[in-house]
Amino acid sequence: MTAVTTHTQTQTTGATFEKLKCKECGAEYALEAKHVCEVCFGPLEVQYNYDLLRQKVSRATIEAGPKSIWRYRSFLPVASDDVIDVGTGMTPLVKSERLARRLGLKNLYIKNDAVNMPTLSFKDRVVSVALSRARELGFSTVSCASTGNLANSTAAIAAKAGLDCCVFIPSDLEAGKILGTLIYNPILMAVKGNYDQVNRLCSEVANTHGWGFVNINLRPYYSEGSKTLGYEVAEQLGWKLPDHVVAPIASGSLYTKIYKGFQEFVKVGLVEDKAVRFSGAQAEGCSPVAQAFAENRDFITPVKPNTIAKSIAIGNPADGVYALEVARKTNGHIESVNDAEVIEGMKLLAETEGIFTETAGGTTIAVLKKLVEAGKIDPDETTVVYITGNGLKTQEAVQGYVGEPLTIDAKLESFENALERARTLDRLEWQEVLV
Ligand SMILES: *Cc1c(COP(=O)(O)O)cnc(C)c1O
Repeated sequence: MTAVTTHTQTQTTGATFEKLKCKECGAEYALEAKHVCEVCFGPLEVQYNYDLLRQKVSRATIEAGPKSIWRYRSFLPVASDDVIDVGTGMTPLVKSERLARRLGLKNLYIKNDAVNMPTLSFKDRVVSVALSRARELGFSTVSCASTGNLANSTAAIAAKAGLDCCVFIPSDLEAGKILGTLIYNPILMAVKGNYDQVNRLCSEVANTHGWGFVNINLRPYYSEGSKTLGYEVAEQLGWKLPDHVVAPIASGSLYTKIYKGFQEFVKVGLVEDKAVRFSGAQAEGCSPVAQAFAENRDFITPVKPNTIAKSIAIGNPADGVYALEVARKTNGHIESVNDAEVIEGMKLLAETEGIFTETAGGTTIAVLKKLVEAGKIDPDETTVVYITGNGLKTQEAVQGYVGEPLTIDAKLESFENALERARTLDRLEWQEVLV
């Protein structure tokens, strides 16, 4: 494994992104692997030339593009044509019938990143962008601090791109997340500690090893990948923005970048402007942003995570204050639910829509339900709920909560008896529900 020392830039003419800019003080920087402002320590964000974007992009040029996030490539911070396209993005936007009816909503849509490619979570979006950029900046080794899905995605896409890979996770992750990383044969460091400790360690490694950490020194590029969750929904709704979105919050990056995606589409004239409400979901056992929202604070008090929703368990969220800002200025809400509600959320989505999501999706569905019950979502609003991960990776979360198969002899009589018992049980359950 070789560390890279020269970060050459292969900016082709006509690139639509121009510089990095501090979100706090506005200081500007060249397009390098850099994420923190030297002046004020604020986070850096990629800046685009929107006049150029307006000239270059139309609904037609996007529609003629590939069936992946790269149809929006003018809005993404990769200069060369040589992007890593592993079919990430353009996941289904499903019009919900049965879940909508159950909740009393008329216009509910589910953005289903549980079937994103290649590793079945929204993280494939951010990693496809980060590694494409890492490659053009000259990195040969890539890395990340992960709550699980990011490790899967980084290891898989690095394998496809032929990059060396060393990823870091908390040692207590679900078996499916660990195996789903190891199969791609990276170096996997399981750190005895929570995500925030993993992240601190990785910041030190990033300073000493010259690797491209997708969510540390490459974070300005990585985070832009989440904007595609906004672009796709706008395009899939027939080039319209929804009224309300509900999305999970871990670091707060995804949530704030959906907002940025919508704003950019308005800015370049691809959709009409509209007031979209942004609501956020956290698990109670790690809900620093929801707590700050409830207490009307504009700062985040870090917490120590303790929840089954491990993929969104970040106790000290990097973009927490920006998530608060988005929720408040759009009249949204940030709510939390407990672990029992997370499991109920996973089951509810599976039973009504045939979508098996992981704990993060269970959290988001449970928060959606809570917001509806509290009258915070109007039944007529076009509401989009973001499902960001796949349930096959967090099977232990629902083990013991989904019943058992009926084991029978290979005889018709045995089957008939079991069927009768199952039906009786089913009727009893229905009677319980009806009384
Ligand atoms: C990482 C992750 C999130 C949230 O990501 P942030 O951008 O850090 O807020 C949501 N859902 C799943 C399944 C994830 O893996």
